[in-house]
Amino acid sequence: LLSFYNWGRKSHVKTFAIGIDIGGTKTAIGLVDRQGQVKARHVIPTNLAISPTQMIQEIIYQVGRMLKGAAVDEEQVLGIGIGAPGPLDTKAGRISCPPNLPEWVDVAIVAEFEKHFPMPIAFENDATAAALAEKFFGAAQECQDFVYMTISTGIGAGLFLNGQLVTGARGNAGDIGHMMINPSYGTCICGQEGCFEWIASGTAISRKGSEIMGQPLSTKEIFQLYEEGHSLIVPYIEDVFRHIGIGCVSLINAFDPEKIVLGGGVTEVGAPLFEAVQRYVSRYALNPSGRKTPIVRAGLKQDAGLIGAASLIFGACHHPNFVES
Ligand SMILES: [Zn+2]
Repeated sequence: LLSFYNWGRKSHVKTFAIGIDIGGTKTAIGLVDRQGQVKARHVIPTNLAISPTQMIQEIIYQVGRMLKGAAVDEEQVLGIGIGAPGPLDTKAGRISCPPNLPEWVDVAIVAEFEKHFPMPIAFENDATAAALAEKFFGAAQECQDFVYMTISTGIGAGLFLNGQLVTGARGNAGDIGHMMINPSYGTCICGQEGCFEWIASGTAISRKGSEIMGQPLSTKEIFQLYEEGHSLIVPYIEDVFRHIGIGCVSLINAFDPEKIVLGGGVTEVGAPLFEAVQRYVSRYALNPSGRKTPIVRAGLKQDAGLIGAASLIFGACHHPNFVES
């Protein structure tokens, strides 16, 4: 093998996928191997002051730089997976109108990448991508049926059912953040009353917690008060946990998963959340077996988004229409 390299030739075995996770504040780019290990990563701010086209050019430039820095040839890369916030249209390769990327209206992101790279490009919403990462490398490796839910700035889900990702007609399946949970909690930014993420996302906790405390506080600060046993915040956070339980019961009743995997910043509060949700599920899921559905922590924390995006390519390798060029 050494002498092979000494001839000055490079291995053309396709070992890596490039994962790109586009978020409202930052975009992570990574080179990921088939074991889910991140060989190189680069994080840049998602610059909302420039046009989406300019931002995509910047991402494309950074992909080239990363490959060069890691001494990896394009020939060694299976493809590029892109995860982006919804709403989007994966069939058309377009980002439609994500609330946290306000200027990104009907952006043909896949076509831009195809202009620069000859390899396959995969594109899904970020929660769907993260679900696939949990299936390949995380907390759901043995599952044929599970729901991945992320609770952070917003709430979203990735559905893996009957042994495959369920994406819907345009890639927006699992947009559970705007599933109505409790209309008495007021009107969500989407216009509907009582959406899940209006009640239980990190943004909601910061908003409502600040209201209770009469001063602007971050989600982290609210959870600090919760851990200190603050008399107003403890019942409030318990109410949030109960609503996450309600959301999980709806998912269990709708999809009959083997488990629900919870990820995202809000889940860092840990045991109190998982215990409260498990307790709620054990009481209110309709099916007796559903009441036993384990609610578990995501296996991937750091780099979950970009490993998820890269996983779309590893997933595509098992797809009958996928041919390695
Ligand atoms: Zn909503």
